[in-house]
Amino acid sequence: MKYLSILGSTGSIGTSALDIVRMHPYLFGIKALACANNISLLARQIREFKPELVCVIDENKALELSRILKGEFKPEIVYGENGFIQTASYNKSNIVLLAMVGAAGLKPALAAIEAKKHIALANKETLVMAGEIVMAKAKENQVSILPVDSEHSAIFQCLKGNLKKDLKTIFLTASGGPFRKKSFKSFKDISLKDALKHPTWNMGHKITIDSATMMNKGLEIIEAVHFFDVSYEKIQVLIHPQSIVHSMVGYKDGSIIAQMGQPDMKAAISYALSEPDRLDLQTDFPSFTDINSLTFEKPDTKKFPSLLFAFEACRQKGTMPAVMNAANEIAVEAFLEKHINFMDIFKLISKAMEDHTCIDNPDLSSIIEADLWARDKVRQAVM
Ligand code: MG
Repeated sequence: MKYLSILGSTGSIGTSALDIVRMHPYLFGIKALACANNISLLARQIREFKPELVCVIDENKALELSRILKGEFKPEIVYGENGFIQTASYNKSNIVLLAMVGAAGLKPALAAIEAKKHIALANKETLVMAGEIVMAKAKENQVSILPVDSEHSAIFQCLKGNLKKDLKTIFLTASGGPFRKKSFKSFKDISLKDALKHPTWNMGHKITIDSATMMNKGLEIIEAVHFFDVSYEKIQVLIHPQSIVHSMVGYKDGSIIAQMGQPDMKAAISYALSEPDRLDLQTDFPSFTDINSLTFEKPDTKKFPSLLFAFEACRQKGTMPAVMNAANEIAVEAFLEKHINFMDIFKLISKAMEDHTCIDNPDLSSIIEADLWARDKVRQAVM
């Protein structure tokens, strides 16, 4: 039996993970759940999965949850940053699924590693901000960090049974988002509504906008560098609109190994929880004869400079990826609140990166300082 703590239980990854647990009740038990604001869904999850510990964003939400559960089964309720850390390191769990959104995932991730929990990592920002520190800490504590992101899960699977020294290229695939075919000229007219419509994946708002700007792929480039300890120069992004090939690894003998499947996050989540076993998810294979063709295109970096930002952040390393990420988070927030237009997101990230003096080999406090600096800078620019 595997005992799970899920941070981000009400989001798209969290709810899919709970679907998997629901299908395999004899394999998994839920010990702790955490979410930010969606208290009514969390209450339903508590009734169904009976966790011992739950965490919400602040004291008000904790009181609200406590009121909803009055007279029913009630777990211990904690809140805020310390609450998330407590949930991530809860002693009754042995696997922690980190599916929170944004930089808020970093400290719980480190806490979980220090508590020697195995990590299923869906929070990209953890590795983007502090990849070196996180991976070194995982090694030191002998815990595995398994990727939940479909592309990284694919790469992880394509690397199995092969030697890292033979790896030549990682082909990181991208759906291309809703604006793949839109002309650069009309980018200035992109509305929030347009940007929230993703063609293949159904996800939360932040990651949907990140997909529209292709910053999601940018974050995944940096994530891959740390996950697989490879140079960014070995990573090539390919637009693959069908989202059937979830990524590929090319070796020096010219062989390419691809991982494929339906565009459904459940496969990647379940593999991170059950590897090397594969769970029966009762999923159909893609119908190859109906799909007819799988296509691949070169990304247009004029339309989507996010990819260039990410490669530049990888090249400079240090605090630059954290700055890129923080600037993006605030810019996306401002776009979601309709304070800025779509193209401004790129301008704000670019400006923050340009103005930042990169610190090499930063410790955690320098990373957090750079993150806060970038947030401030972008906030001032959008106000
Ligand atoms: Mg992905």
